[in-house]
Amino acid sequence: MTEANALFLRLEGPFQAWGDTSKFVIRRTLDAPTKSGVLGLICCAMGLSRQVARGRLSELNRLAMGVRIDRHGTRWWDYQTVGAGIGMTTAGGGLKTGAQGTLVTRREYLADASFLVALQGDAKLVHEVAEAIASPKWPVFLGRKSCPPSVPVLAKPREGESWTNPGCHDDLIAALGAVSWHPRYKADATPHNGTMEALVEWRPASGDDVAPDDAEVWYDVPVCFDPPVHEPRFILRDSISPAVGEALQGPAPAVPRPRADYTNAEYRKRREERIKADAGLCVFCKSPGPRMTVQHVTYRRAGGNERLEDLRSLCGLCHDAITMLEYGLGMGLDRINPEDPRWRERIIQKRAEILKFRSLETRRRRLAAEEVE
Ligand SMILES: [Zn+2]
Repeated sequence: MTEANALFLRLEGPFQAWGDTSKFVIRRTLDAPTKSGVLGLICCAMGLSRQVARGRLSELNRLAMGVRIDRHGTRWWDYQTVGAGIGMTTAGGGLKTGAQGTLVTRREYLADASFLVALQGDAKLVHEVAEAIASPKWPVFLGRKSCPPSVPVLAKPREGESWTNPGCHDDLIAALGAVSWHPRYKADATPHNGTMEALVEWRPASGDDVAPDDAEVWYDVPVCFDPPVHEPRFILRDSISPAVGEALQGPAPAVPRPRADYTNAEYRKRREERIKADAGLCVFCKSPGPRMTVQHVTYRRAGGNERLEDLRSLCGLCHDAITMLEYGLGMGLDRINPEDPRWRERIIQKRAEILKFRSLETRRRRLAAEEVE
């Protein structure tokens, strides 16, 4: 096998946070891993403290980095407190000191994102980094310590290839295209359309080269982690069409069904409007009760987003009859419309069944009561 000039990282987890250089109360995340974050992960795997890492960062920075966005993820906010416990006694008997008071900070995350990172450069360094990530000295995390990975970080490009020797590639685009994409669920393959966004580091081939006009400048090349000092690099956005591999999981879980919430204020408002619009009468038997209810003809907007046309006024008896029919038929989100003439006979029949059952039940109770006497 040829000596590898690239290695692949799979960055995937419930949360990731690839911070820009903001040091303020609101900590944002960029839409893809930063070089500073990825090299920080590598330093953790190699067991290099922030101070020791400084001596190796210029060498590690020579690895060119490309990112393929396999799944963008969803932006998510959380808050974190900083400085809690100031003034309290520490385990060692000292006093915890620092800025006065507890500061609440907002942190942004990418939830459920998946990235393929390719690092390309000197074969010896590539091998050393791959070995370190295969058996990390310290736990690795996805940009923030609270973001553990959910799959092995060192990615194997193809079956039969070694984790630590993923082959030789002409450039980062070729490397990122060499790894097949695995949809999470079979159904994901179609909407994905086969192309993926990639962010690739641009470097001058010679001293006279000028970065293309559409190159972005990211200040994420770490010179030092403590205090954080960053230099800029150029990034080009591209698209890649890798081979589609097997889905990682079986069928997608069913989307949770919308449910009625009878305490919801919006629903209650709609319910009153419906009954008023129906003049307080059952739309099926035209009786005013004794008990007026409202039926969902569809649950698609249930839970507070109901429209007037999703509901029908029904007396208790007609509502019971329709509900029994619906259960018997195992109906989904769309239910029986009592105004639809196709249901008329079946509703009348079910109403009669209920009335007969009720009179039998009443007689049974009376007889039972007499027997006790
Ligand atoms: Zn009725």
